[in-house]
Amino acid sequence: MSQLDLLAFGAHPDDVEIGMAGTVIRHSKMGYKCGICDLTLAELSSNGTVELRQEEASEAAKVLRLHTRLNLQLPDRGLQYNSAYVNKIVEIIRTYQPKVVFLPYHEDRHPDHGNCARLVEEALFSAGIKKYQADQELPPHKVRDIYYYFINGYEHPSITVDITSVREEKLKCLQAYKSQFTLSEDGVDTPLNNGYLETVLARDTLFGKETGVKLAEGFYIKKPLLIDNFLGESL
Ligand SMILES: [Zn+2]
Repeated sequence: MSQLDLLAFGAHPDDVEIGMAGTVIRHSKMGYKCGICDLTLAELSSNGTVELRQEEASEAAKVLRLHTRLNLQLPDRGLQYNSAYVNKIVEIIRTYQPKVVFLPYHEDRHPDHGNCARLVEEALFSAGIKKYQADQELPPHKVRDIYYYFINGYEHPSITVDITSVREEKLKCLQAYKSQFTLSEDGVDTPLNNGYLETVLARDTLFGKETGVKLAEGFYIKKPLLIDNFLGESL
């Protein structure tokens, strides 16, 4: 099993794309191995089917140039703390040994997004404990850093990534999820198919404005960044 440089977790296939498709594409293009682990199949979504959603996720994965896309098939709307779920995530972390991990920001109108972050945080801590679930026969693993991306929530970001050069690819990724972002004739009217993509781009534009570029994705960090000095290369 090959190791990943960057691993992003989402509750549903499309979460990572909304918050950080541009960042993933940029890292993939730089040669870093990127992966996504979706915790659920989004089986309770108002529109589309599980099969269609998986096809859309595969199409998006190609645009993202992902090395790996996993789905743990945990229950949609059932991501409350459960040691069996945590252990499944521990196994993923120990198997792929990502250097950095991305999670949904905890404040979000959809409770699954915050619950996804809390579950993975538990797993990230336990994955580094040598004697925890030792029968997995995988080496313990500690990630270097954890970053939080935004899905529906809006927060002043701690850090931003310029995604101006990959705007069209981010859009292509999101448009792959036709069942979610396009209202079909027999579809259910939801916040996602009512100008949602425009809202995502508007947020990226706003984050870009704050940091002097056209388009940027924002991230929140809990742990302060450590720097060597204030006059060296920018982070
Ligand atoms: Zn979601």
